[in-house]
Amino acid sequence: MATERTFSIIKPDATERNLTGAVNAVIEKAGLRIVAQKRILMNRREAETFYAVHKERPFFGELVDFMISAPVVVQVLEGDNAVVKYREIMGATNPESAAEGTIRKLYAKSIGENSVHGSDSQENAKLEIAQFFSGNEIVG
Ligand code: ADP
Ligand code: MG
Repeated sequence: MATERTFSIIKPDATERNLTGAVNAVIEKAGLRIVAQKRILMNRREAETFYAVHKERPFFGELVDFMISAPVVVQVLEGDNAVVKYREIMGATNPESAAEGTIRKLYAKSIGENSVHGSDSQENAKLEIAQFFSGNEIVG
């Protein structure tokens, strides 16, 4: 398996409840390494750009408002098969459908306030990492 990188966001519902360390514990226990991390307050434009693929969806406005409502922690995770592995440990978008032990099952409040984002492909991982990190901020 190839070593890959994926992009993660610990979302406002999790940072507000002081769950950054708890989420990171699940990430590290799964064998993924946090090779970049920073706590930021996203602005509206950054959130709209990041979720542009969902701009026609009925929840888009609510999603953008949520993502800028409190700080987030943006991260680059590295490891074997990192994109798929992180999606697995995140769990399903709706925490009611998420498998036991996944981050969303453990911590998400709702389908919207669901604690974490993870890239859905290697291509998107590269684009998302580049939106928030410069190369010298990532130390593998
Ligand atoms: P995922 O984050 O699992 O990749 P999507 O890409 O489908 O999920 O959606 C992006 C984000 O939009 C979700 O993580 C969630 O915060 C929000 N979202 C998705 N579906 C809904 C919905 N039906 N109602 C409210 N928010 C939603
Ligand atoms: Mg998605």
